[in-house]
Parts: sequence; C-alpha cells; structure tokens
Amino acid sequence: MTADADVNSSPAVPWSDGLVMSKDGMAALVDVLIRRGFTVVGPTVRDDAIILAELRSADELPYGWGVELEAGRYRLRERSDGAAFAHAAGPQSWKPFLHPPRVREWSADRTEDGLVIAADRPTPPRYAFLGVRPCDLRAIAVQDRVLTGGMHRDPGYEGRRSGALLIVVECTEPGATCFCVSMGTGPAAGPGYDLVMTEVADEAGHRFWIRSGSSEGAEILAEVPTRSADPDTRETARAGVATAADRMGRAMPEADLRELMATTLDAPRWDDVAGRCLTCGNCTMVCPTCFCTTTEDVTDLTGDHAERWRLWDSCFDLDFSQLHGGTVRASPRSRYRQWMTHKLGTWYDQFGSSGCVGCGRCIVWCPVGIDITEEAAALHDWTRPGEAEPP
Ligand code: SF4
Ligand code: SF4
Repeated sequence: MTADADVNSSPAVPWSDGLVMSKDGMAALVDVLIRRGFTVVGPTVRDDAIILAELRSADELPYGWGVELEAGRYRLRERSDGAAFAHAAGPQSWKPFLHPPRVREWSADRTEDGLVIAADRPTPPRYAFLGVRPCDLRAIAVQDRVLTGGMHRDPGYEGRRSGALLIVVECTEPGATCFCVSMGTGPAAGPGYDLVMTEVADEAGHRFWIRSGSSEGAEILAEVPTRSADPDTRETARAGVATAADRMGRAMPEADLRELMATTLDAPRWDDVAGRCLTCGNCTMVCPTCFCTTTEDVTDLTGDHAERWRLWDSCFDLDFSQLHGGTVRASPRSRYRQWMTHKLGTWYDQFGSSGCVGCGRCIVWCPVGIDITEEAAALHDWTRPGEAEPP
C-alpha cells in the first residue's frame, strides 16, 4: 500500500474470513510477485542471522529457524515446527530499502564546455516486502509521515515507497526484547498492508491464514492457489497472536511517556546511562524510525569529478550538533538524553506519534546491552519517590 494511502483508514477490501494458503502456495506467491515485476525482499538466513534480502524463491525463507534475543545478544536457533516467520525483528528493518544508508545525490564533471552537473535519480525497483512484522508496518507509517508528510518531501523515498507492496505476517513468536504491546503496534497487524497472513504450523499442517487489504493485494491473491479458511485455522491463528501479546519479553512503564520524558530532564539516571553508553550510534542505525542524514562531498584526485552523497547520520555523533560555536551536545549524557526524549517524547510534538514502535532492536544491538525499557522504568521510579527505589 502506498505512502499516500491513509494508514488510519480501513482496508480497501473489506475483512472476510480470508483464505488458507499452503507452503506450496507461499512458493507460488513469490513466483507471482516476481512474474509481476516486483523485487521481492524477505527474511533469509545469512551469516548466522535472519536478515532481509532479495528472494528469488520461497525456498530461501528461513523455514525451521528462530532466534534468541537478549540485551546485547542475538543467536539463531533451530525450530522443530519448520515455521518460516517464527522469529522476532532481525538486525535490519525495511529502512535500508526505502531510506538507504548511502545515496548519491548528484555528480559534477569539469568539461571543455564548463561544469556539467547531473542529478542522480535512478528508477527505483518496485519492492514487494514479504514478512513485514506489525511493529515494522507502523515504523514504515512513521517514516512516511517524516519523509513525505510535511513541507519538505524526500523525492527519493517517495519513489521507492510509492510502488512498494507490503505483505505483513502477524507475530506469534515475540522475542525477549519485544514490547510492541506497550507501544500499541502489535502483535496483530494494524492498517496499511496489501496482504496480511498468520502462520500456523501444527499437527493439521503448515499453512497461512491470508487476507487482502488492498485491491492490488486481492488481485495477487487471486493468482495463488488457496482454499476457503476453515474455522480451526482461523481460531488457531487468532489464538497464536493473542498468546503472543501475553508473552512480550519487555514492557514500558505504565505512564504517559511523553510527560515522563518532559519531567525527568534533570534525573540522575541520565548520568548513570551515560556512564555505560559508548555513543557508538548502533541504536540509531538499527532503529526502523530514525531518519537523520548528513551530506558529504567528495572529489577524485584530478579534481575534475565531484560527487555529493547523502549518508545516515546519528544524534550520537559529536558532529551532529556542530554549530559555529562548537558542539551543542558535547556530553554522552546529553546525546543519550536527546535520543531517548526524542523517541518517546518530542516526536509527538513534531510528528504526532511516538518515534518508538517497540521492536526491541536498539536493545539487542547495543554492544553494552542498554535497554530503553529499563531506562524508562528507572526514570518513572525516580518520579515516584517513596513508591519505588530511586535509581
Ligand atoms: S545506547 Fe548502546 S547502541 Fe546506543 S549509542 Fe549507547 S552504547 Fe551505542
Ligand atoms: S527506539 Fe528501539 S525499540 Fe523503539 S523503534 Fe527504535 S529500535 Fe525499536
């Protein structure tokens, strides 16, 4: 579904009882997408992780693999049920595809006729994202708002996003670092998808309960072998998602997080976390909603060719807040506080929503295991002296 579609509207095709697709149907679905000209991107096992990469067939899906997650820790583990989507968010989100880490904006050449400047606007592939987790579906909506929803629209993002087909798989296997329930983003899918499925792998067989959310999704589904959804599959699928909601590994404190961030700016906890934080910026790189960029101009040795590149940047970099008088946020304390208060607080003022969708990636990929839910809980405790031990 495109960025221009209202993500808060009901699906274009009314909810029905849906259909059931077998594992062979999944193979057919990938083939149909490729035949229709999509670049299919989905989860696959590579380098001891479940990453997102271009798929040439459904055989490349991570059938039989799950993950174990903890703060600063990620491990693959084999599963006995052969499920393809029973794994929580991996090291990437869909951000590198829609908002790539390196983009050449333009190049310039000195010629006999003078300086020739060429803008770099390659035609983007038409992506089909297979296996979008509900938290990541919300993250895409957040980035849509940031990068296309205001006065300053990013044409590159718009081009990549406008043709993207979103196939969501609801979560039945949350990780120990997941907290989508606290952020209201999962484990059931919200609006904005073209197709949504729930995977069921039990004694009755390996199957997917699949529903369409747009007319294009319905058209594609019509080309895939399916059967009517039986009550048992529907109920098992619904129960799997409901159970996942009760098995979140993490939770945010039950508080107004925006207000919590605004009222704890002087809490001693910021010094505590600054003593642990390496200011490496990993949390911003893996976060599906972080969007900041910088620009870099390079020339070749002859000086006749120059290029301008746009690169991901991080509020943990010293140069990020460099102004004419120096760096505004010079201390690790101020940089961590900026990141967390923006995610959970001032993002509402800027974009009308939280900047955190509860995917847990910043917890897993922090090399020292700093946990945003633990930091929020410590700040919450600090506001309630007498009710909880201050941090
Ligand atoms: S919180 Fe962790 S991942 Fe983020 S900058 Fe600090 S050390 Fe790096
Ligand atoms: S702040 Fe952390 S948990 Fe929240 S969306 Fe970003 S990476 Fe995911």
